[in-house]
Amino acid sequence: MVESSSSCAIETINLNMTYRSGKVDVPALQNVNVSVERGEFVAVVGPSGCGKSTLLHLLGGLMQPTGGSVILDGIDISKLTDSERTAIRRKKIGYVFQRFNLLPTLSAKGNIELAKKIQGNGYLSPNGVDQILDMLGLANKINFRPAELSGGEQQRVAIARAVINRPAIILADEPTGSLDSRNSRIVLQVLRDLNEKLSQTIVMITHDPEAASTANRVIEMKDGQIIDAPSVLYCEPDFENSVGNP
Ligand code: ADP
Repeated sequence: MVESSSSCAIETINLNMTYRSGKVDVPALQNVNVSVERGEFVAVVGPSGCGKSTLLHLLGGLMQPTGGSVILDGIDISKLTDSERTAIRRKKIGYVFQRFNLLPTLSAKGNIELAKKIQGNGYLSPNGVDQILDMLGLANKINFRPAELSGGEQQRVAIARAVINRPAIILADEPTGSLDSRNSRIVLQVLRDLNEKLSQTIVMITHDPEAASTANRVIEMKDGQIIDAPSVLYCEPDFENSVGNP
């Protein structure tokens, strides 16, 4: 497995995805070239069916592209076996879903500790879970189960779970899609804080203009292609941190 270092958290090169539906080919992504620098907060917007979820799934290694490459934190994940991809995904990606996906029988703290057990990397101190819960304004809810929390609180627990192992990148799929406007704002502020205070790289799909305006950069998609991706298109090699640099 070749690991290189660059200023990119994630990058796609001529990425293509064509689904096979019966006898019909459905082209979902066509030659998508996009780069996200470390520490960026990027929103991906576009009409339903334009390929946003497909792009997010490919960025997160949840499926293999039919063409092109995805370079995640210096590793070309499109060339890996399923088990290698799963291992990299656990280590380097944190997911936030529209519907939270918390385990109902575990408390807020239990949900987060489980994620830490599955892929702990030792970055956080033993009190790390408490610190993250505190930062997300959940310190007084640590023993509550998901059913005892509001939607906004559940989403904050899900975000804490995603960030607990300090992944290279958080992929958020419509994180405010199930929330009212007040809770949406709180969740967006939490994402903003993680990006600003912990330099957490975030890629977020959204159809909500207010959510998109929280990001530093907006990538617009249409018909399986990027139609507007201002600023960063190519990342510079990170010479200071390159392997073999004296
Ligand atoms: P978005 O997230 O922007 O709504 P998607 O990535 O879900 O778009 O879908 C892009 C295109 O791919 C759409 O035409 C959709 O119908 C098609 N598509 C998505 N998933 C599948 C699948 N599993 N099988 C066949 N076609 C699919």
